[in-house]
Amino acid sequence: MPELPEVETTRRGLEPWVTGRTLKATRTYQRSLRWPIQAPESLNGATINGLYRRGKYLLFDLDLGIGNSGTLIVHLGMSGSLRVLPLDTPRLKHDHFDLHVDGPRIAGGSDQGSLIRLNDPRRFGCVLYQSGADAEVHPLLAHLGVEPLGNEFSGEYLFQRSRHRKLAVKNFIMDGKIVVGVGNIYAAESLFLAGIRPIVPAGKVSRQAYADLSDRIQSVLSNAIRQGGTTLRDFVGSDGKPGYFQQSLYVYGREGQPCRVCMTRLKGITIGARSSVYCPNCQRRSGFQPPKLDVAG
Ligand SMILES: [Zn+2]
Repeated sequence: MPELPEVETTRRGLEPWVTGRTLKATRTYQRSLRWPIQAPESLNGATINGLYRRGKYLLFDLDLGIGNSGTLIVHLGMSGSLRVLPLDTPRLKHDHFDLHVDGPRIAGGSDQGSLIRLNDPRRFGCVLYQSGADAEVHPLLAHLGVEPLGNEFSGEYLFQRSRHRKLAVKNFIMDGKIVVGVGNIYAAESLFLAGIRPIVPAGKVSRQAYADLSDRIQSVLSNAIRQGGTTLRDFVGSDGKPGYFQQSLYVYGREGQPCRVCMTRLKGITIGARSSVYCPNCQRRSGFQPPKLDVAG
């Protein structure tokens, strides 16, 4: 599933192809995604002012002229991807939606401009439209928590929001109303690096442990984005796949295997409906003794 780093990598890959370009047309092949695709004809001819991200939503900021603006909101769901392709690229199975943007001819293309094409085998993604200057009034965006790589996110923020909360700290940091985009992999790895046991009630985690945890969340996500950045060229062309996260993992998916730090056998537990793996030695409780690790990747 595309997680926040993959979505941010997608944004960075597409940005130079869409910013300042004219949206000449959209084409919908399969309207039935998670919700029916919304791409009104009035968008044809709009200028794409920029491509932004909020959580795992990509926001195409559109200038429709005479003071009108709007935003196309795209989510990649479980299996979606967006790629830049030559205009005459044949549609493949699971290609559901195109943005046709003007611009220079791209390698292999026979015409000016390019396609930004959405492929989504499982169709849990969406393409929705919000009119007006502020996309964040859209119901899908209005209640999102802070950005983990933004200025509002910090250990103090997590500490304050978690007081008297009994849910497991892992579920707390995965709650999109608190902070967006901390998926299961990133939560498990960050908790390991901060030395915090995932099942500890969020309200019991110390201020210092949250300071460590917020640092780890940011470094784990940043590393993943940096790794994705090495495969940006794959967004252009017909045969590449977006370069998803392949960082070596400490705990995620490693139940029963030895801890990479202390060789203790990693344990699996179920928290809520999710399986979680942790090191009973390195993750003692509330992060008072985080393992000395360098995650620079
Ligand atoms: Zn360990």
